[in-house]
Amino acid sequence: MKLAGQEDVQSYLAQAQARGTLPHACLFTGPGGVGKRSLARWLAALGLCQAAVGQPCGTCSGCRAVALGTSADLCWVDRGAERQGISINQVRQVQDFISLGSLSGSVRTVIVTDAHELSAEAANALLKSLEEPAEQVRFCLTTSAPRALPATIRSRCSVFNLRLASASQVAALLRTAGAPAAQASELAAAAAGRPGLALRFLREPELYSTRVAASQEALAYLLQPSWTSAQAIAARFASAEGETSGEIRVRALELLSLWSEAVFEALRWRVGYEKAARYQATRDAVQLVAGRWRKPNLLAAAQLIAKAGDRLRQNGHVRLTLESCFASLALLAPDL
Ligand SMILES: [Zn+2]
Repeated sequence: MKLAGQEDVQSYLAQAQARGTLPHACLFTGPGGVGKRSLARWLAALGLCQAAVGQPCGTCSGCRAVALGTSADLCWVDRGAERQGISINQVRQVQDFISLGSLSGSVRTVIVTDAHELSAEAANALLKSLEEPAEQVRFCLTTSAPRALPATIRSRCSVFNLRLASASQVAALLRTAGAPAAQASELAAAAAGRPGLALRFLREPELYSTRVAASQEALAYLLQPSWTSAQAIAARFASAEGETSGEIRVRALELLSLWSEAVFEALRWRVGYEKAARYQATRDAVQLVAGRWRKPNLLAAAQLIAKAGDRLRQNGHVRLTLESCFASLALLAPDL
């Protein structure tokens, strides 16, 4: 199966597999929804497919077990529903999986998604496994934040930066999934080359409307920043009933990435690279921000937001980090 936007990586990996030169450990990087997990699953199937047709056939028992998540030769590690990071215990389970060996003699795959969520202890333990490759075991890590991953782990992996799919590829995917043409092109534009995100927009309309609202709020703030609204937005995102601190942190990171997207949209508009808004509803606001903000200030704003994201990933205080980020943005804003 071809994954939209990842055809080159797939063909490279399939050829490497045929030559017997597939890397012992791959790291797939790229923004959320671009296809990192799908590609990781595809890679696991590449090692387990019994059809020997150069790529996963999708119908043999090996491929089906990977698709259903029932394969005994695949160990899938993620941060779990609590979103509390990836623990040392999870990595110990990986080590058990490796030491068991394969009954069928086939290539076994360990997939670690959101690898930047590994605790320091877990990352160290995983590093040991990466440093001492076991026969017939392959690692595949995914992350949307490669800089947050220890350099020691990054350097043990062959890094593949996943490409964005084209808008027409994403729209076609959405139409196949049942979306009417107009909705397919609207959601494809909003997903900006990320097929997984586009499909989530289709299945979870609330997610889409929340994103539009967050983008509107970010643009409104850039047009009229104030200490009061900085505090209000930060407080709203840092205090949620019944959520764990890990969940709040993840949501705050999502918020920052939406703000960053809004800034980059205005920047692209400002430099004339692309006069288009991601969401139909925010087109006017993007144009206004692009008209008022200077290029260097928009760039500095994007850097501020990226730094705030780094601080959050390093366990910075959520409300204070957001507050100080938004307040600093106000200093960059044009005089009203
Ligand atoms: Zn197969």
